[in-house]
Amino acid sequence: MDSSRTFPADLSRELLDDLLAYKALFEGVAEIVGDGVVHLDERCRIVRFNAAAERLLGFSKSGVIGTPFEDLYHASNPGDPFAGTAQANPVRMVLRDTVGEAVPVLARAAALKRGDTVEGWLLAFAANRRVDEIEQLKNELVSTVSHELKTPLAAIKAYTATLRHNPALYESHRDEFLAVVEQQADRLSRLVDDMLLVTRVETAQLLKRRTVVALDGVLERALGDLSYDPAAHPIELRTSGVSVSGDPDRLRDIFRNLLENAVKYSPAGGAVTVSAAQTAETTTVEVRDNGIGIPEDHLPYIFDRFYRVESGAAAEAGGSGLGLYIVHALVRAHGGAIDVRSEPGKGTSFFVRLPLR
Ligand code: ADP
Repeated sequence: MDSSRTFPADLSRELLDDLLAYKALFEGVAEIVGDGVVHLDERCRIVRFNAAAERLLGFSKSGVIGTPFEDLYHASNPGDPFAGTAQANPVRMVLRDTVGEAVPVLARAAALKRGDTVEGWLLAFAANRRVDEIEQLKNELVSTVSHELKTPLAAIKAYTATLRHNPALYESHRDEFLAVVEQQADRLSRLVDDMLLVTRVETAQLLKRRTVVALDGVLERALGDLSYDPAAHPIELRTSGVSVSGDPDRLRDIFRNLLENAVKYSPAGGAVTVSAAQTAETTTVEVRDNGIGIPEDHLPYIFDRFYRVESGAAAEAGGSGLGLYIVHALVRAHGGAIDVRSEPGKGTSFFVRLPLR
């Protein structure tokens, strides 16, 4: 853009002020955004180059202004840099840094038009690493979860087929078999919920609302989602009168996962106790079981995505390794913290601390 451009004599002072304000606004926005922003003229020469673009590619603004954008374009790109960019979806593109190294980015471009004439381009780009991470997560998620989905599906199929082909069994064991089918269908639906939650964890859109609610109510709802045998795993709530602050649906997810694990990792049965204490600022909830426990060398990793203890009794209980990852993310989204104490063969306690606000 030509800085020596003269303005028409009849341009009013007010209009000029407006234009300068818009220019300042545009330049301010371009400087503070996290994406690299490059403004090109109609011949694709660089007119503006923001601070993020300097950071991502290493070139200084003064060194690149006036040079062809093509010079920033890495040789590994197929074809014309702008061929696929004038569309809403971002495209992958490879730029180059000061020493010619490839910098993979995800870019969007917009044509700057006056009437039908293209007067320039705006190109915004972000480093592509994060996108790769998310794609890798999605792939892992699909393979782990599809494996997990197969178990309940196989059980549903086996139980319904058995009932259909055995009229005598249908008469005598119908309710029992249908209960298993229902249980497995619930398990499927929880797995799907977890998958959806994980994608929200990744995009950090976790909490919809925040209210102060009775912990008892949250736990009752979490228990309602759980299929367990109260005779083998009596669950005692020592939580009456305690309040907790957060998104009630996400709080239910936290305690449903912890309670589910407490039951699942106590294969020989055993009591599960939930106790809670409240101060003016914080609610602390302990979920304790008398199950198989977690060996010390695994403890640092149990909140990691897909991490499972793949030995002994823990390996026999199925799972995706997503539960505690989700719990951890949800607790942190509430501004809280989670801790674990465990003794192999004796049991495990999870402590959830949530701020009361
Ligand atoms: P999973 O789907 O495998 O249950 P989680 O993320 O919920 O995944 O848990 C991660 C691992 O931590 C589990 O595989 C299990 O080995 C261990 N773990 C979690 N909770 C308990 C518990 N209450 N008792 C013993 N081990 C547990």
